[in-house]
Amino acid sequence: MNRPYNFSPGPAVLPESVLLQAADEMTDWHGSGMSVMEMSHRGKQFMSIAAQAESDLRRLLAIPDEYAVLFIQGGATSQFAMVPLNLMRQGRADYVNTGAWSKKAIAEARRFGQVNVVADAEPAGFNHIPDQDDWRSRSDADYLHYTPNETIGGVEFHWIPADTGAPLVADMSSCILSRPIDVGRFGLIYAGAQKNIGPAGLTVVVVRRDLIGWTRSGTPSMLAYAAHAESGSMLNTPPTFAWYIAGLVFRWILDQGGLEAMALRNQRKSDTLYKAIDASELYHSPVADDCRSRMNVPFILAEPELEARFLSEAAENGLLNLKGHRSVGGMRASLYNAMPEDGVDALVAFMGDFERRRA
Ligand SMILES: *Cc1c(COP(=O)(O)O)cnc(C)c1O
Repeated sequence: MNRPYNFSPGPAVLPESVLLQAADEMTDWHGSGMSVMEMSHRGKQFMSIAAQAESDLRRLLAIPDEYAVLFIQGGATSQFAMVPLNLMRQGRADYVNTGAWSKKAIAEARRFGQVNVVADAEPAGFNHIPDQDDWRSRSDADYLHYTPNETIGGVEFHWIPADTGAPLVADMSSCILSRPIDVGRFGLIYAGAQKNIGPAGLTVVVVRRDLIGWTRSGTPSMLAYAAHAESGSMLNTPPTFAWYIAGLVFRWILDQGGLEAMALRNQRKSDTLYKAIDASELYHSPVADDCRSRMNVPFILAEPELEARFLSEAAENGLLNLKGHRSVGGMRASLYNAMPEDGVDALVAFMGDFERRRA
């Protein structure tokens, strides 16, 4: 197959071998005579697919037993509400505002209680991460929420916030599985699947079991973590096909050498691109050096009138979906796990060629 390189921020590129395996199993999964899409979620076959996916994810992230893993629906955006509905016992939470996704999480949490923005990078244009020494966090907050990778601004924490006394909650939608993390440092991790896990429609939640059980009065059972945990994520029909594809992606990561291998590859890919940006006169990164994302790389053209031509010529060269978010402008290359190193090399070669020819 000769597929173009897809730099979309999400839904995003999936490993080609996963797509081929899914195609191969599409009409008849392992001699069952059925597509995974046609199976009962409570039948033996799907239950085995679901259990394998969970155990592979637990292995990849080294998730301790005291954490529940949920495969649910509603996207990361539903988590913006589920987190306060389940964890805001005293009605007060701390949030770090480092970008567009933090800001959305904050706005939603404000519907349910008192939100304290402990640090705010918006006045400076969401181009850096405020030093934790300057955060106004409270040890008695119900939790501290942050966004380790801001998909739109391209700002990433390369460190985990130090313990403030409040459980740490992280929206890892665009960086989960990109490197090893110490799950034990977190109270709750959530991620929409469509960046680094699989198809849209699935949301993964990893939560310390002692944090769940309480819900704000009136919370629907579909929005209660404990209800999902007690039912093995089968409170109702789960997104079975997305769960199955996620399982194939987990397997693919394990076969590639796990998260250490992903981290090395992601470091190389992003280093290659940032080096090219920094060496050029046409392109520049709007993000501070110490928090440049390995997953989403925005870059601005010094001559904005060339943007349309850049995008159309890139597409002609098999480099797709490089348009930046309207709030940042310029370009954005998303380099999730499934983006091969060859894709980044092809992008860098095109960028250099475009810069030389631009006159
Ligand atoms: C994409 C994204 C979201 C929104 O995800 P949905 O699944 O569309 O709700 C939230 N947070 C981050 C960091 C994202 O990258």
